[in-house]
Amino acid sequence: MIFQDVIIKKREGLELTPEEIHYFVREYSEGRLPDYQASALLMAIFIKGLSGSELTALTQEMLHSGDVVDLSHINGVKVDKHSTGGVGDKISIPLAPIVAACGVYVPMISGRGLGHTGGTLDKLESIPGFNVNIPMDKFKEIVEKTGVCLIGQTSQLAPADKKIYALRDATGTVPSIPLISSSIMSKKLAEGIDALVLDVKTGSGAFMKSLEDARTLATTLADIGYRSGKKVTAFITRMDDPLGIAVGNSSEIIESIEVLKGRGPEDIKELTFKIACEMLILGNKATNEKEAMDLVNRSISDGSALSKFAEIIKVQNGNPAILDNYKLMPGYTHTVEVKSTSDGWVSSINSTEIGMAGIEICAGRKVVTDTVDHGAGIDVLIKSGTMVKAGDVLALINHNGNGNIEEAIRRTKSAYIISENAPGKVPLIIEEIRRQDTN
Ligand code: URA
Repeated sequence: MIFQDVIIKKREGLELTPEEIHYFVREYSEGRLPDYQASALLMAIFIKGLSGSELTALTQEMLHSGDVVDLSHINGVKVDKHSTGGVGDKISIPLAPIVAACGVYVPMISGRGLGHTGGTLDKLESIPGFNVNIPMDKFKEIVEKTGVCLIGQTSQLAPADKKIYALRDATGTVPSIPLISSSIMSKKLAEGIDALVLDVKTGSGAFMKSLEDARTLATTLADIGYRSGKKVTAFITRMDDPLGIAVGNSSEIIESIEVLKGRGPEDIKELTFKIACEMLILGNKATNEKEAMDLVNRSISDGSALSKFAEIIKVQNGNPAILDNYKLMPGYTHTVEVKSTSDGWVSSINSTEIGMAGIEICAGRKVVTDTVDHGAGIDVLIKSGTMVKAGDVLALINHNGNGNIEEAIRRTKSAYIISENAPGKVPLIIEEIRRQDTN
């Protein structure tokens, strides 16, 4: 194959064959195709897009570039959840034990913080001893015995995506819906799942700022999953205000535990329970949302979801005593109050700025090699739709003297938009897209 022809074909907007896509992924990931040719093709894809069959081929090629986890020995439906990333988005943490406590297997492979958004793995690592680097055989064993295991991406899952992603990062080709979709789904499909619930965020704190882009991404992701024989539900959810109050690592674990104890912020509960219900329906444990919600509520009121979290922590080498003593997790030494300078309504909060303020105090990373301060975080006390007076405390910056505190204060202040008029109410869950008829 002459690769220039493949680049020219895509540049002209023509459809690539599965063989051409196979050639690209194999030759590039095995080091025989130079960066400059792979980059040219990625840029052509960025500009011209991919058809449905091209997307399926690219996803399948990246998926099969490494190991595909086989969980077929586990007798039951295996369901995972993926979020496109938000600020204060700790949903996976209460969700996984709730769903597992209700009897659905959850093999969850999560990521670290990306840009202004936090990552489930960083949050879990606030729990002393918690191990997210578990070998695949052990992962399978834990999923079978405990019903759930929470780990990070291994180098054996979709390695071609890792290499192509790094090239995209260096060539301005990350924000392409077909490339993002095939990247996410190649990793999710490698997990050995039967079904997937996607939480596609839209708004000021999301990568997809517009509803239209979020809808295209959600539909593209769901279609890829469906064409690969999986049941997929995608929720498009609002990511304007941060989710919950806590934005950090330890603090988000605490907020998640509070949900498992039947408390916690309403928005976190609403989204966690909604996704949990969908996972229970996809996992054949409930036939409708009402039945599923009864199971979810029972797992909270009878303490089984909290016990399941204790079990997860123990089996992954963490200290379950944190459930009763939050002080066993990293904390902070200083708190700065961020106050309103005017009277009025909080009409919006720019979550990206809150996420960046968190990075300024080292709750996240500027570069991948940065060390995370798990105790640092921001408490977003006042949310949109609240009336405030000058001098009212809007948020707390809890820090350990690491990073640039002044910049964190400036960013947090600037995130709050105070105006004369009350904002309209926007639902948290905006749209639901289902692709489930896999027979
Ligand atoms: N997350 C991924 O896994 N891949 C992308 O391309 C973007 C976000």
